[in-house]
Amino acid sequence: MTTRVTGGCLCGAVRFECGEAPIAARACWCRDCQYLAAGNATVNAIFRSATFRATGEVQEYVGRADSGTVMRRAFCTACGTPLFSRSESRPGLVVVRVGALDEPARYRPEGFIWTASAPPWGLLDETLPNCAGQPAPLPS
Ligand SMILES: [Zn+2]
Ligand SMILES: [Zn+2]
Repeated sequence: MTTRVTGGCLCGAVRFECGEAPIAARACWCRDCQYLAAGNATVNAIFRSATFRATGEVQEYVGRADSGTVMRRAFCTACGTPLFSRSESRPGLVVVRVGALDEPARYRPEGFIWTASAPPWGLLDETLPNCAGQPAPLPS
């Protein structure tokens, strides 16, 4: 049985899908993500990009992440929903915002990264792995 994961933006103009399950799911407290997630950590599912497809108009904001890598962060041009990002140093992976998935309950974060950047009131799950900064690279 194949896994098919689908999602899209708030207004419905952008839809995306991936033909396999994510290789990881985690929450990121880096300062950049706090802008994207309105003050909170972003929650991300990381997919291999081979079967990832998106339709609809996205704009990319290209910027350097705290890790030093160049990130291309895609959002809907109509409603602004942050959707997914790609790192130029890891073209085989796509980082999808879990809030944009049709079934966000499916991918619980397995850990938190960049926790040193979280505000004092930032919510962490101490029972999960927490990494103060950039974690070890995922296999692509
Ligand atoms: Zn939209
Ligand atoms: Zn982040």
